Amino acid sequence: MMDRMQQRGYKIVVKLKMSAKTLPSVTSRNTIAEIKGSTYPEQIVLVSGHLDSWDVGQGAMDDGGGAFVSWQALSLIKQLGLRPKRTIRLVMWTGEEEGAFGGNEYYNRHKKDIANFDMVLESDEGTFTALGMNFQGNHKAMEIMSSIVDLLKPINATALKKGGGGEDITLWMNAGVPGGSLMNANDKYFYFHHTDGDTMTVQDPVAMNLCSAVWAVVAYTVADLEKMLPR
Ligand SMILES: [Zn+2]
Repeated sequence: MMDRMQQRGYKIVVKLKMSAKTLPSVTSRNTIAEIKGSTYPEQIVLVSGHLDSWDVGQGAMDDGGGAFVSWQALSLIKQLGLRPKRTIRLVMWTGEEEGAFGGNEYYNRHKKDIANFDMVLESDEGTFTALGMNFQGNHKAMEIMSSIVDLLKPINATALKKGGGGEDITLWMNAGVPGGSLMNANDKYFYFHHTDGDTMTVQDPVAMNLCSAVWAVVAYTVADLEKMLPR
């Protein structure tokens, strides 16, 4: 609106009143659950979203959606009575908005086991209609992911784009662990992001179910491959 006003020749004066303040630090924790792998329990496929939210709104979209499709992916696998070869670990990060405190602390505590981290995923860009995966890995890993997203034909979520990731998993991916994020039709994401509009009304239950399905299929398939993803 201001851009259009300026184009019409208005001189714009903005008076901004802010009441934000930085409070002292408090202790907060990541929430972690897992399905232990049957053959290589020490090897980890990680799915995640963050539990904290911005101070306005309810954080239903950012990132309640990502946290709970990750939770639901494990729940689905459990309900189906499946147990993959590797461990699938859910992490609901804390303190992402203040600066990925939960993600960074987790990395620092677990980086000594980095050779056992097979793949890291984070959904933090909306849980609208699922389209497929954003994924970063070497050529061979990309090919494997391409055949995995093909499994999602019945729900029309076969898109695969190089890239993706998330604030809380960046350190893992920078260190060479294959990883990615959920590709979804999120062109309206910034209508709601960090505003009072980010409430449960943004979430569509059917879309969330399909996002969970993508997450479950990708996590389970990678966790059940004979070998870890090449890196
Ligand atoms: Zn977020």
